[in-house]
Amino acid sequence: MSDPDVYDLIIIGGGPGGLTAGIYAMRAALKTVLIEVGLPGGQMNNSDSVENWPGDEHIGGADLAIKFSQHAKSYGLEVISQEVVDIEPGLDFHTVKLANGDNLQTYAVIMATGGNPHKLNIPGEEEQYGKGVSYCAVCDGFFFRDKTVVVVGGGDTAAEESLYLAKLAKKIYLVHRRDAWRAGALLQQRVKAECKIEILWNSVVTQIRADDSGVCGVDLQNTQTGEKSKLSTDGVFIFIGFKPNNKLVPAGTKMNADGYVVTDEKCETNAPGIFAIGDLREKYFRQIVISAADGATAAMTAAHYVETRKSAEACELPEALQTEAV
Ligand code: NAP
Repeated sequence: MSDPDVYDLIIIGGGPGGLTAGIYAMRAALKTVLIEVGLPGGQMNNSDSVENWPGDEHIGGADLAIKFSQHAKSYGLEVISQEVVDIEPGLDFHTVKLANGDNLQTYAVIMATGGNPHKLNIPGEEEQYGKGVSYCAVCDGFFFRDKTVVVVGGGDTAAEESLYLAKLAKKIYLVHRRDAWRAGALLQQRVKAECKIEILWNSVVTQIRADDSGVCGVDLQNTQTGEKSKLSTDGVFIFIGFKPNNKLVPAGTKMNADGYVVTDEKCETNAPGIFAIGDLREKYFRQIVISAADGATAAMTAAHYVETRKSAEACELPEALQTEAV
């Protein structure tokens, strides 16, 4: 018989992946709790507008976050607003430790703690986020049709996203702090062949300027000569790396060199009963729809895992108790 104090599944993180996992877990009748320290919806709350979530041609990020949360709660999902401080893997149960001192036991854990794009930390960046400053071309590029944008970075992401933006914007200034690419040769060639993209080598953005309608320009500085200049632009896209929130990932869980958790296609880590989804998981694209798909995949796999564990436990019970367990 199951211990009523033990959860079937604990989901850590309430972004699109975690909330979708919550929906699927509740529909699979798993005793589930979702733990989130911030606002439900995660990074969605920072998007002024989302136009690529299927079924909603145009919806505010915060509104979509509320819809995800309400949907999950409509199935009775328990949500705890607390910080998780540790995940302790165990042979029988895993223990999730909260900042308030509570220790929760569970058969399965889904880690959905996401990540954050690296910031330039310059004046205007935080203030204009969502009003012309963006870290996602697929999410926000559409708002810059026939406009001028600045892209910051010299890696694969900056190159690839500049090419994406070139399909929409009329002019892209790619600002890179050195005079050599970090991006791969093929992407370099494709950027070079795109006449809408002009590269400003040895340059950094030192300030993002705005007027009443949002971003209107940037201040630049040459890293070799120190020379300062100004550039008019309607938007600034920053692609200088991304950091997964992996501080809770238990020791021994396989991660790649960039700190993303390595899973199989069912979102299983190498630790039994511990799953990783969304931006925390090693994958190619970072999108709401992809995190949601991870959440569904992990919850369905977790349901199967919990069922298998409980069946095995029932078989181990003394004969007299087995009748009760059935
Ligand atoms: P990345 O490779 O770490 O490149 C970050 C870029 O931002 C570098 O050019 C770096 O300059 C620049 N940068 C970092 N901090 C900066 C700052 N404070 N101010 C100005 N510039 C700064 O990151 P990424 O491009 O996001 O790529 C991450 C990983 O994903 C890489 O392994 C990449 O190969 C992979 N990826 C692959 C593809 C693909 O194969 N199509 C697409 C996207 C990503 P420096 O060069 O001077 O260090």
